[in-house]
Amino acid sequence: MSIVVLKDVKKSFGALQVLHGVSFSVEKGEVVALIGASGSGKSTALRCIDRLEKVDSGEIHVCGHRVDDPKLELRKLRLDVGIVFQSYNLFPHLTIEENIVLAPRSVKKMDKAAAREIARDVLAKVGLADKADNYPEQLSGGQQQRAAIARSLAMQPQVMLFDEVTSALDPKLTGEVLRVIEGLAASGMTMIMVTHEMGFARRIADQVVFMHQGRIHEHGSSDILTTPATPELREFVSEEL
Ligand code: ADP
Ligand code: MG
Repeated sequence: MSIVVLKDVKKSFGALQVLHGVSFSVEKGEVVALIGASGSGKSTALRCIDRLEKVDSGEIHVCGHRVDDPKLELRKLRLDVGIVFQSYNLFPHLTIEENIVLAPRSVKKMDKAAAREIARDVLAKVGLADKADNYPEQLSGGQQQRAAIARSLAMQPQVMLFDEVTSALDPKLTGEVLRVIEGLAASGMTMIMVTHEMGFARRIADQVVFMHQGRIHEHGSSDILTTPATPELREFVSEEL
């Protein structure tokens, strides 16, 4: 069963065409690594999936929602899709637990006890069970990023999108966050992740999508990272090592 389908998605910003007909699909439980040089359109593709950007043409289907339909009910889409960025954007004046229960309480109208139980559960999943009552500034960058992942998981999404979530972190903190994502993959979460962590992509990705100048230039299993077919991917992989 496909959870995410993109068909010939095109997107321009003014005169600049950023996506030139991007198509791929993601089955339930699959992990997709979206890779490519800076400016190749990875973030735009990811943002189109969550309708943070509107496509110019083409189709996007996510968990039964037609994302390219102007009449899409955004609220319903967002219940099914979690997205985490490089910047964590936790509310500084709220504790970690308060950050996490916010959306389940306000969007899902969950009662306090139920939201708290979910917060405890997702914090345990990301290894932050003991940080519920801390404020974001009391946590390391890696811990804050894990808290941001927990906040997203608390909405119990069907698919998670990650956009370079470790790019701002040093190697040790990067490892902590990647382990959390690896755990999610093992638990069967469907994920699309933009990443520069080639070793990680090779290990956990079911599909690798290599973007170059707004097009999918190579697409396959993680084997394409070991044996690239095009000079562009060969060069990209060698630079990322
Ligand atoms: P990547 O994530 O692969 O680095 P992006 O999708 O962020 O690439 O960007 C692709 C191209 O689109 C870049 O040239 C970028 O400057 C441009 N771009 C992205 N977002 C916008 C925007 N909101 N307005 C104008 N140009 C944009
Ligand atoms: Mg980007």
